[in-house]
Amino acid sequence: MVVRRIEQVASRRLAGKFAERNDRSDSLDRPSSDGARPSSDDGSADTDTETLLNPLTHLEEVQLLDTTLRDGEQMPGVSLTPADKLEVARELDAAGVHVIEAGSACTSEGEREGIRRVAREGLDATVTSFARGVRSDIDRALDCDVDGVNLVVPASDRHVETKVGSSREEVVETTVELVEYATDHGLWVEVLGEDGSRADLDYLEHLMGAGLDAGADRVCYCDTVGAAGPEHTAEVVSRLADLGPTSLHTHDDLGFGVTNVHAGLKAGADTVHGTVTGIGERAGNVAIEEVAIALDRCYDIDTIEIDRLYRLCRRVADVTGVVLPPNKAVCGANAFAHESGIHTDGTLKDGAMYEPYPPETVGRERRLVLGKHAGRAGVAAALAEHEIDVDEAELREIVSRVKELGDRGKRVTDADLLAMAEDVQGRERDRHVELVDLSASSGGNLPTASVRLRVGDEERVASGTGSGPVDAGLEAVRTALEAGSESGTRADGSERSESVAFELDSYHVDAITGGTDAVVTVAVDLSRGDRSVSVSASDADITRASVVAMVDALDRLSAVESNDDDDSVSDSAELPEQAE
Ligand SMILES: [Zn+2]
Repeated sequence: MVVRRIEQVASRRLAGKFAERNDRSDSLDRPSSDGARPSSDDGSADTDTETLLNPLTHLEEVQLLDTTLRDGEQMPGVSLTPADKLEVARELDAAGVHVIEAGSACTSEGEREGIRRVAREGLDATVTSFARGVRSDIDRALDCDVDGVNLVVPASDRHVETKVGSSREEVVETTVELVEYATDHGLWVEVLGEDGSRADLDYLEHLMGAGLDAGADRVCYCDTVGAAGPEHTAEVVSRLADLGPTSLHTHDDLGFGVTNVHAGLKAGADTVHGTVTGIGERAGNVAIEEVAIALDRCYDIDTIEIDRLYRLCRRVADVTGVVLPPNKAVCGANAFAHESGIHTDGTLKDGAMYEPYPPETVGRERRLVLGKHAGRAGVAAALAEHEIDVDEAELREIVSRVKELGDRGKRVTDADLLAMAEDVQGRERDRHVELVDLSASSGGNLPTASVRLRVGDEERVASGTGSGPVDAGLEAVRTALEAGSESGTRADGSERSESVAFELDSYHVDAITGGTDAVVTVAVDLSRGDRSVSVSASDADITRASVVAMVDALDRLSAVESNDDDDSVSDSAELPEQAE
C-alpha cells in the first residue's frame, strides 16, 4: 500500500524571504507591550484583527498547569523515564508554564524518581504530584519533594459509590482531613472533583467549598471523561468560581476540550490544565499550545511564551513517540505549509493571505510544498531557494514534472526538484558526499554499522553503534564526516567546520508494500543553520534506505554550502551547533 501524504519540498527557508513582510504583519497583528492593539504604520486600524478581538475575562493572564507528565503519560503506549520527564519539565519551565504536574507518586519507584528529579531541579514552576484521596499518596508526594499536590477526590455519585464504595459525606470528611494534612506539611493544594461534570452540582459545590475552607489553594472543575458541553461547563464553573480560585481540567472526547476551556474562563476560572499536543487518555486533554495561541490571538491574554510552543511540541513528540498529526494547529507539519498553486501564489505576495498569524509567532517557519497542486510561483520560489536560475521554458518543464510526480502520489522532495532541474538544464550533479559501502549488524547486543564514504576526493571509513542498525548507520556517517573536520581548512586559511553540524528535523518511514518483503521509503529533512533539504530513498533494507537518504541530504546541503563559499566565505564559519 502506498501511504500517501501531502508531499513537500521543504522550503522552510522561504520564510527568510518573507521576513520583511512578516515583520510588518507581525507588528500589525501582535499586541504592543501595553496590551493595546496597535494601528498600522499609515495610521489606519488593523480592522481584521480588531474585529476578531473580543473580551473573554477581566484577566490579563491565565495560568497553565501542564499535566503532560501525568495525564499525558497515561496515554496508552506512552512511558517516560526519569530523564525524559526532566527534559520535558525543563522545556515547560523555559516556556514559563506555571504549574508542572510531574507524575503520580503512588505509581512506582521509577515514577517517584522522575518526579523527584523534576522537583529538585530548581525550576521556576510549581512542581506537583497527582494524589488520590488517601493519606499514603500525600506521603509519597512529600517523599518526592514536590511543592504541591493535585488531590483528586470522587465527585459524581458514580465515582463516590460505585468506584470508591463510599458516601458523599464520607468523601467530604476525608477531603477536609487530607487538605489539612497536606497544607500542614507545607504543600500547595488543588482539590479536583473527579467526574465533576457529571456530579450533582449542589454536592460538588459543597465538596469543593469544604476543601477551600480546609485551606486548599484552589479547586478544579474536572470534565474527566469529556462529557460536557460549553453551557454546562459555564454553569458549573460559575458556581465554583464564586467559592474561590478555580482551574479547568477538560477532555476532548466530544471535541469540546478547548471550547469548554473558553466557556470556563468566561465563567470565572483562572487556570487551565492541559498537555503539550493534547496527549492523554482516550481522545486526550486540552492541548496547551492551542489554549495559548487562541488566548493570545483572540483575547490578548498572556499564558506562556508562545514563540516556544512549536519547540515544546516537537520535544514532547520526540520523547513520547506520539507523532504530530499533520493537520494539527500550531504544531502540525501542514499548519504553515502551502501547496496549492493559488494559495502559494497568494502567500508569496502576502504572507498573511492564507495564514491567521505568522509562523514565527509560535517559533516556526513557512513551508511551501510541491505536489500536483503546485504552480509556477511555488516552483520558482523553491528553485530560487536552492539558488537555481531557470528560464521560462525550463520552469514550465520543471512544473510539469513536479505535477507528474505529484499525480503519481509521490512525495516531491527537494532532492527530486533539484534532480529535475539538473536534468532539464542538462547539468551534471557534482557530488560532494557519496555512500560507497555500508554494512550493518543487529544480531548481537550492540547494533553496529560501518560506512565507507567518499567526501570530496578522499574516502573515509567509520563505524558506529546505536539503539538499532539505523541509528548505528547514521552514527557511522556522522563519525566519518567528523573524522575529516579537524584537518579541513578554508581557502583563506580559516578553520572549516566540515559537514557535522546538521540537525535531523524529521525522519519518516513508509512501507510501499504490505508484506515482510516490503520496500520502504525513508524520508528525511535535514537542516544546517538556516538551510534545509528534504530527501527520500527507497530500498528493501531500511538501514540502507536511511543512510542513503541521510548521505544524499548531506550532499545536497554541502552543495549549497559550496555555492555560498564562492561568494561569501564567512557564511558557514559560524554554523550553529547541532541542537541536541
Ligand atoms: Zn484528565
